[in-house]
Amino acid sequence: MTLSELLTEAQQCLRDKGIGSARLDAELLLGHCLGLDRAGLYCAAERPVSGQKAAEFFELVQRRAAFEPVAYITGRRDFWTLELALGRGVLIPRPETEVLVERALIFLKSLDCERPRVLDIGTGSGAIALALAAEMAPLDIVALDASAQAAACARGNAERLGLSGVQAVQGRFPEDCSRDDGSYDLIVSNPPYIATADIDGLAPDIRDFEPREALDGGPDGLGAYRSWIPHCAELLRQGGCLMLEIGHDQAAAVAGMLAEAGCCGDIDVARDLAGRDRVVIWRRGQAV
Ligand code: SAM
Ligand code: GLN
Repeated sequence: MTLSELLTEAQQCLRDKGIGSARLDAELLLGHCLGLDRAGLYCAAERPVSGQKAAEFFELVQRRAAFEPVAYITGRRDFWTLELALGRGVLIPRPETEVLVERALIFLKSLDCERPRVLDIGTGSGAIALALAAEMAPLDIVALDASAQAAACARGNAERLGLSGVQAVQGRFPEDCSRDDGSYDLIVSNPPYIATADIDGLAPDIRDFEPREALDGGPDGLGAYRSWIPHCAELLRQGGCLMLEIGHDQAAAVAGMLAEAGCCGDIDVARDLAGRDRVVIWRRGQAV
């Protein structure tokens, strides 16, 4: 069979399972199998593929047909300008999170500071921390995750990408961050924010494969914000900034928690490309 015939068959198989991104997924899997990028696949469309390679490819397609995410099958995911390595046990970074990266870069570039200090809470694959470090050197970023697997993944990505300003640490927030670590210029986080009862209703790709502790925000989805915000405020220097990714209907609740924690000053909400609220931003007032 040719590449193009293999792709058509795989696409059909994935579409039959109700997978919306069937064509793209088939291309990503075939590219992974043959060591080609998508442009390479198009150029080689009429090339024949060996029986052994075709069998390997269909094994991957079967995994996808059982709803395993492509990123876990290939062990790779693009985020921002970076290709990150990751596996089961580590959340797959989402494109929406790039809104947080954009806003964080605008803030960092506005600072008159030689080596800004940043804390990324719940770094997962290191996505946010590494994107910031790739754009802004020099920078000191502590990338914290409660999961040992995530911290190791972020550390591996930092090393592979040569982004030495990112220090990936296993630890739970806030317990493992004392006030002495404080005086951050910027604290960023994409915390778990799905309500526990909603997790069973998520797509099987997420529900059955991604780590619960990366998604589960407690009974109302807001548990991480509730317990983290007062500590974030303590760790931020005057004029510093806190940026929290949120679910699309959580902006008012999170802004309310900031007010309750005495976080006065500017609160802003950034939207994602779908026009939904995505990041709550609080700038800590300058000392008077
Ligand atoms: N920042 C990554 C991203 O945007 O792709 C991953 C975000 S994921 C939604 C949340 C992460 O927070 C998970 O990796 C989880 O292990 C971590 N986490 C959950 N509770 C934590 C805590 N109390 N302290 C540190 N990390 C925590
Ligand atoms: N955006 C993720 C999803 O709904 C949730 C990530 C999170 O809880 N921070 O799939």
